[in-house]
Amino acid sequence: MTRPLLDIDDLYKSYGSEDVLEGVDLEMDRGDVTVLIGPSGSGKSTLLRCVNQLTDIDSGTVALDGTDVTRPEADVNELRKQVGMVFQDFNLFAHLTALGNVTLGPRKVLGMDADEARERGREHLEQVGLLDQADSYPAELSGGQQQRVGIARALAMDPELLLFDEPTSALDPELVGEVVDVMRDLADRGITMLVVSHEMGFARSAASDIVFLDDGEIVEHGPPEQLFETPEADRTREFLGRLQ
Ligand code: ADP
Ligand code: MG
Repeated sequence: MTRPLLDIDDLYKSYGSEDVLEGVDLEMDRGDVTVLIGPSGSGKSTLLRCVNQLTDIDSGTVALDGTDVTRPEADVNELRKQVGMVFQDFNLFAHLTALGNVTLGPRKVLGMDADEARERGREHLEQVGLLDQADSYPAELSGGQQQRVGIARALAMDPELLLFDEPTSALDPELVGEVVDVMRDLADRGITMLVVSHEMGFARSAASDIVFLDDGEIVEHGPPEQLFETPEADRTREFLGRLQ
């Protein structure tokens, strides 16, 4: 048995008196594409934020490649090199071009020299189909293009694991497809991805696992065909019914 890339064990997280995550267990192997679904407020974003230490946890462990990332002496910068994040609202730097956004992390965090960062950055923009927009600023790009820059920026750090938090939720419907196509391409290339999304087309065709989170607990976890076609829990069935 090889050890999982991500191993979340009995994770608890509260905000004040509100228990947000209540004993979450989740493992991911390299190459897994895990899609996390669940009602608004169920704790999906919080779970992602616990994985890359954007928020502290109360108890339990989050281990990446066998290293507990939540221990006090853990190096958050080291973790951020290994875990990339793509946000719902893109979070691009408005004053930097597409290429500038993609090269910033490699230069500042990885210490890459500017020429190499630019060369590799152009490759990552090409991967998301945006090499021709390398010199455009975010405001000159569509939402779908901005999100593809956000993905290229995450890829540029060469992470072990990519987190996506509702990457298409802020997009006009006609722009969702281009972002989903890029994500499907990453999945095909074996990139390990933990994705919060209600894009069922993506979930059915690209996910290795679906996890249904409700009220801070994983209610059900299984391959897409099982979870979508023969869900075991009433709560899962109700939630899936509401999505249609
Ligand atoms: P989801 O992404 O599934 O919609 P979230 O993880 O964003 O859910 O939120 C889960 C719960 O935690 C919600 O009730 C939300 O109000 C609360 N919450 C999330 N972030 C914070 C925060 N920074 N401070 C206080 N409460 C928060
Ligand atoms: Mg959320």
